[in-house]
Amino acid sequence: MSSQTYRSTRASEPQSFTFEQAVLKGLASDGGLFVPSVIPQLEPDFLSKWKDLSFQELAFNVLRLYISSSEIPDEDLKQLVEKSYSTFRHDEVTPINTIDEKNGLYLLELFHGPTYAFKDVALQFVGNLFEYFLSRKNEGKPEEEKDILTVVGATSGDTGSAAIYGLRGKKDVSVFILYPTGRISPIQELQMATVLDDNVHTLSVKGTFDDCQDIVKQIFGDEEFNKKYHIGAVNSINWARILAQQTYYFYAYFQLIKQLGSSDVKVRFTVPSGNFGDILAGYYAKEMGLPVDKLIIATNENDILDRFLRSGKYQKDADVKATLAPAMDILISSNFERLLWYLARNNLASSDEEAGKTINEWFAELKSTGGFQVPSSVIDAARKDFGSERVDDSQIKETIKRVYSENPNKYVLDPHSAVGVETCYRAIGEDKAAGVQGVKYVSLSTAHPAKFADAVNDALGSFEGYSFDKDVLPDELKALSNKEMKRIFVEKADVELVKQAIVKELS
Ligand SMILES: *Cc1c(COP(=O)(O)O)cnc(C)c1O
Repeated sequence: MSSQTYRSTRASEPQSFTFEQAVLKGLASDGGLFVPSVIPQLEPDFLSKWKDLSFQELAFNVLRLYISSSEIPDEDLKQLVEKSYSTFRHDEVTPINTIDEKNGLYLLELFHGPTYAFKDVALQFVGNLFEYFLSRKNEGKPEEEKDILTVVGATSGDTGSAAIYGLRGKKDVSVFILYPTGRISPIQELQMATVLDDNVHTLSVKGTFDDCQDIVKQIFGDEEFNKKYHIGAVNSINWARILAQQTYYFYAYFQLIKQLGSSDVKVRFTVPSGNFGDILAGYYAKEMGLPVDKLIIATNENDILDRFLRSGKYQKDADVKATLAPAMDILISSNFERLLWYLARNNLASSDEEAGKTINEWFAELKSTGGFQVPSSVIDAARKDFGSERVDDSQIKETIKRVYSENPNKYVLDPHSAVGVETCYRAIGEDKAAGVQGVKYVSLSTAHPAKFADAVNDALGSFEGYSFDKDVLPDELKALSNKEMKRIFVEKADVELVKQAIVKELS
């Protein structure tokens, strides 16, 4: 096994970080994101060797290519994988479901983890990984010398619970999640506040989501506090999250060709995108050699990625729009920097170091003017691998209705997954018009519809016989409302009050 190292997208000198360093640091000190020094290549016979593997076996194989065995030996990596996916409700972890056979449309269900959202696939693994690295550092140390990690984050509702479930009960790790009081849905609050583990702390802060996020930023910027409590994040730029998400592209591809009985198909993945973490994992899988025909970015009305694909200009909007697919409501897309680095590296630069310089120039311009334009060679290259569409709120509702009424099992989509499915239908229409055949679409389904009751009920409420409680809400989520809650109320959006709460809980 060759050794895999990592470097920052903004480094203009040679660099070599270990996997552990890349994961525990999260963001590089120059503000860049970690990328592997080389993208591993699949062996020519990978198809016959890998196609019948279980999700867990595939996960091990993929992770092994990016993590040196000197850092995590085989046996340990196997255990980490087993543990991470034992919390999923479905045997296949991420099954594919035929939504519209006639049109070749399949859904890759990524929501069978503990919080019913795709982020579980990565965060269940990341939590175990943090614990593994910390226990190793702390082995044999007296209690007062042990390294600890205090994860602090803000949520507008959907993503906090995935972090909490990833970190609950982990040794030497504590997690504090801030959310705006009364501004998240009851089910979202229940999902977080009913986790009673000693190391989990849910903070209800009187203020807005932006207030919560500001407080978290201030805590990260507080050097003294940071030094004392080792503040960490599990945000979407962490390399381990991108890595863990690669498995399901492989798994879905193999399931599909087995179901079709042929590998002579063009497989296109459509991905509801916000911070570009989910689809970026697909890019790595494709670059490794998985025969993916195209990756299609599906955005909501926060469409910076769709506009980039069309114009080559990466231009920040003035305001975030609140849409029916809130987990994709973003102004800029944090993981997109990684793709830009590859585009620069492969089309403009003659070395990694030069690519780092180009990224620095682009991001300096983004900071000072709110946008930058890439050369046509870069945008042409991007369009070879990627397509894109923008889907607005009314189209989200129409798509939820369409699939419910056309699918033989009355399948209920959540609003994020609907963005992906609408994007597929547009592409299917274009294929038909152009006479293109043999294309299959796999649309990534990123959340269970029960998490977005308002949007789903709004779309389906008028159908006769439709019942949210009976058709959508799983028993496990129903049961949450009878469970005990543990919350810390912070009476004002004030960083000092939050810091006091953290110190009190940690002592
Ligand atoms: C986070 C999230 C997304 C967007 O994924 P990115 O990796 O940020 O592109 C889409 N849907 C749901 C439900 C999510 O939670």
